Amino acid sequence: MDTTQVKVDHAQSNGASAGSDKPNPFLVAQEQIHIAADLIKLEPGMEAILRQPERELHVHFPVRMDDGSIRVFDGYRVQHSTARGPAKGGIRFHQDVSIDEVKALATWMTWKCAVVDIPYGGGKGGIIVDPKQLSLGELERLSRRFVTEIQGIIGPERDIPAPDVNTNSQIMAWMMDQYSRNKGYTVPGVITGKPLALGGSLGRNEATARGLQFCVREAAQATGMNLQGATVVVQGYGNAGNIAARLLAGDGAKVLAVSDSQGGIYSKDGFDPIQALRYKEEHGTLKGFAGTDAVSNADLLEIPCDILVPAALEGQITAANADRIQAKMIAEAANGPTTPEADRILHDKGVLMLPDILANAGGVTVSYFEWAQNIQGFYWTEEEVDERLHRVMVRAFNAVYETAKQHNVDMRTAAYVVAIRRVAEAVRLRGIY
Ligand code: NAD
Repeated sequence: MDTTQVKVDHAQSNGASAGSDKPNPFLVAQEQIHIAADLIKLEPGMEAILRQPERELHVHFPVRMDDGSIRVFDGYRVQHSTARGPAKGGIRFHQDVSIDEVKALATWMTWKCAVVDIPYGGGKGGIIVDPKQLSLGELERLSRRFVTEIQGIIGPERDIPAPDVNTNSQIMAWMMDQYSRNKGYTVPGVITGKPLALGGSLGRNEATARGLQFCVREAAQATGMNLQGATVVVQGYGNAGNIAARLLAGDGAKVLAVSDSQGGIYSKDGFDPIQALRYKEEHGTLKGFAGTDAVSNADLLEIPCDILVPAALEGQITAANADRIQAKMIAEAANGPTTPEADRILHDKGVLMLPDILANAGGVTVSYFEWAQNIQGFYWTEEEVDERLHRVMVRAFNAVYETAKQHNVDMRTAAYVVAIRRVAEAVRLRGIY
């Protein structure tokens, strides 16, 4: 076993890519594995297996644009692990997508599925594109062609994509249709996050935020925080962020600030997150919403509050700003918003971290419910979905919370310990040949 490689990689993995201040998400993901592996004295060979994805597919594919020209796009599909079941994870459309980002996101999916104990491994996909620059027709052709390019490695028993940043249920519908057309019959279980009319699950749209809410409720109870009147700040106002703000407000919390890619709004007295969303839908921006002041995305993170919900992109809370974070609890709706160095600072400050692989696992859990319903051809009510999600989230929170207490570590390390033990056991039982 080449253990040197593990050590060398780790020595480089201070979270920052060479020549850049921006944390390299894949190095972050590898460092997170190492911290937990070290704690549980995982054998080096097993750590070496878990540090790398099983498979990375890079495709270049053409799309006919509306003006008749041809553009060639880069897309990725990465399967980090299939030890516990098919790979599972979303597809992101963003101009900053990179192979290291997709590898990190795929790795985090493996741990997430293991933390909530659903029978999946981890995968992720992405296309380097700013979808806001495309017409609807171009977006559809891009989505369909990408699925054809990755068709050989996806499928209900192999790898099941879903929405992520800038992809939605309409895009999932085109992708499911394209896969099905290529196969010659309808395969609803190949993609989750579909519209209801095509086999989507009730409750899927809210699932990530609903799971986060269940997790926050458990954490509040465990630490004696009263959600009635608790103050909340949310970075990112898309699917995960705006619904989380609405659900937490429904529990009596006061939303002080929210933001999107153009910046944020803040009011010390709080505001109605539903009205803020309506304003954003009407005006294309949150800025100017009545009774609020503008705040930058960086300053927003440092607003004193009880619960901070990062719900945008990776690498937002780093060693550069962690010391100035004044939240009592951080519930990560986004994947990878906090670097390992920042984690250490926050833990020392006594901030309770509900890590991404636990706090946002409601999305993949209801994706699993959607897939199970598709395979059975038998559909559940929204109450059944929410009730089952609640059971899964409470069980996962307790497993992580108990592990944190037992090892006297932060919640992220504890979540990794829970997940890595489960995945390592599956790898061991399947055997290495
Ligand atoms: P989305 O596209 O619906 O929303 C993203 C939001 O973030 C938008 O409001 C956008 O304006 C904002 N944003 C982008 N860059 C920003 C920046 N630099 N600062 C502040 N805001 C910025 O995406 P989503 O599905 O809500 O996903 C958000 C995060 O949650 C991602 O990290 C994603 O991986 C994670 N996540 C989503 C789900 C899900 O089911 N939707 C599940 C698990 C994790």
